[in-house]
Amino acid sequence: MEPELDDAAVPAIQQKRFCATFDIEDWFHAENVRASLPTHDWDRLESRLEPNVHELLDILAATQARSTFFVLGWVAERYPAVVRRIVDDGHEVASHTYLHRNLNQLTPDEIEGELSRSKDRLEQVAGSEVLGVRAPNFSVSDLVLDLVAETGYRYDSSYFGFTQHDRYGQISATVPPGAPVTEIRPGLLEIQMTRVPIATVQVPWAGGAYFRLIPYPVFRWGVAKHLRSNPWFTFYFHPWELDPDEVPPAGMPRTLRFRAYTGRGRTRRDLRRLVTEFGSCRIDEALRGLGHLSSNETTP
Ligand SMILES: [Zn+2]
Repeated sequence: MEPELDDAAVPAIQQKRFCATFDIEDWFHAENVRASLPTHDWDRLESRLEPNVHELLDILAATQARSTFFVLGWVAERYPAVVRRIVDDGHEVASHTYLHRNLNQLTPDEIEGELSRSKDRLEQVAGSEVLGVRAPNFSVSDLVLDLVAETGYRYDSSYFGFTQHDRYGQISATVPPGAPVTEIRPGLLEIQMTRVPIATVQVPWAGGAYFRLIPYPVFRWGVAKHLRSNPWFTFYFHPWELDPDEVPPAGMPRTLRFRAYTGRGRTRRDLRRLVTEFGSCRIDEALRGLGHLSSNETTP
């Protein structure tokens, strides 16, 4: 299928908010590879984080795109220079928790620890307030949202309303599919992952494996279609998805290997095309532009 592309609509689309966001973790934090790792001592595994994040930052610098980076506290402690480059390049630093544990499987004390410890570490390294958080694997829940609000975050970006996925968390509040910003708790905004309506189905279209598995012209068509009738698109991706040279762990099941590694050979080129065409903005700046955050709640 080659969808019809309406190029005449592109200049108008660029007035809208395309927020390309990135979850900053190493290859061994990815859920699909965790069970196949030779050790769970991350310090004994080869790190590939620095070159992959610098590659990502180079792509964004070349296209003058600004983004929100959800960074693990664990990463900020080991690679503070990477976080400082993210800040120096004009991007927003937000939290991806401390150790990349699925929050909806933890006790309240453990969740609070993941949220507050990462916020503290990231603020120390970045030198500015951390306003947002994204739970690993979109592992949100009602309790997680309560604790995100209590810990002092202003927005959460962990909700992916796709009930067919085995890992995504669920919440009891209603988040309408097209709503970019929803006040999910008093003072806490939810920035959900974008889905695109095709026929009668809301199809996950927000990035990650969907960006690697869907051919670029089709993916681009879905983004343009969404932005023609909505003011905001939230896209997410990982630095390890730009790395075609990562070797899968031995014995990794074929289906997980497919999910984790397919399409990596073209992602550098296609990410550059995506942010060149649609631009990108930081979530905090987009929220401020819409009046959801006051001007003293922004990073420099
Ligand atoms: Zn993650």
